[in-house]
Amino acid sequence: MKPIDFKNLSLEELNSYFEGLGESKFRAQQLIEWMFKKRVSSFDEMSNFSKTLREQLKKDGYLSGLKLVTTQSSQDETRKFLFELEDGETVETVLMPHRSSEGGSRMTLCVSTQVGCRMGCKFCLTASQGLVRHLKCSEILNQISESQALVESGILKETPFEDLEKITNLVMMGMGEPLDNFDNVLRALGYITWDRAFEISAKRVTVSTSGLVTKIEELGQKSNVNLAISLNASTNPTRSEIMPINKPYPIEKLIEVTKKFYTENKRRKIMFEYVLLKDVNDTDQDAHQLAKQLRGTAFKVNLIPFNEHPKLPYKQPSQDRIEKFQDILKKNKVFSFVRWSKGRDISAACGQLRSP
Ligand code: SF4
Repeated sequence: MKPIDFKNLSLEELNSYFEGLGESKFRAQQLIEWMFKKRVSSFDEMSNFSKTLREQLKKDGYLSGLKLVTTQSSQDETRKFLFELEDGETVETVLMPHRSSEGGSRMTLCVSTQVGCRMGCKFCLTASQGLVRHLKCSEILNQISESQALVESGILKETPFEDLEKITNLVMMGMGEPLDNFDNVLRALGYITWDRAFEISAKRVTVSTSGLVTKIEELGQKSNVNLAISLNASTNPTRSEIMPINKPYPIEKLIEVTKKFYTENKRRKIMFEYVLLKDVNDTDQDAHQLAKQLRGTAFKVNLIPFNEHPKLPYKQPSQDRIEKFQDILKKNKVFSFVRWSKGRDISAACGQLRSP
């Protein structure tokens, strides 16, 4: 029998496993705490399990991990990790420490959910790989465990962020379309937000999607996390041109389902991401049309000036153009802010993650 990757099992599956051994159900929760809260690397460290049980666990399965291949450091102290998976594939994970002008701090981790991606967004480097495979739940979670361990090993020492100890926020905006890997992502979200596991409040977790409408509905029913919608155009022809997902799920449908997602639980934050591409989606007309689409909603817009890359054909709009675009949104009562991506000097910015 194939050894079990215990970090990949749901609570129900772990319960049945321990029941099958004639053990109490609470063993499942204890194992979860050892794996995800205390992050031990061997069964021998699980001191509240008998020696016999520890031997049984070793016989049946293993505790998976990721191999760190490289770490890149940005001038803004963003760190990009390249991790190798069990089958030799690689994914990137980005750690972004941040301190606000009021002195508040947070440490956000951007995790990948697939090796490659099949959504084909034209402005994104990950798309050029196509979809290689989905990440397992354990592979999504191991990115958090390994990154937290790197923080604890002093990766931010002698930087302005050396006092930050814990990953506080999580975004699924790395390689892949999270909702295209729905079951594994949902299982991982359960552990990420559970106080017996990673204990990151759902209020601090954001799933980003290119707009898989049916899966947004399902996510709304099954999780309380925040949502970021990668919109990137104000009209269907332009959006279909740069994001093929728009053909089956056009803008109106996407906004309608997002409104429903929000109405079901108003504590969730909804953000529309809009990558500004020079002469593609950055005109006054685009800004007016975008304002029309979002007027009267509680949604905010994140304007992201495109990060130019030699392998991508797009350009970044001028500062004037960006300001004018934002001004039109403001005059139309649509709240927006301009987000200059972090880690731009190490290709850790939005849409620039890819395996080597
Ligand atoms: S932007 Fe996101 S959804 Fe689109 S191709 Fe890139 S990784 Fe996939």
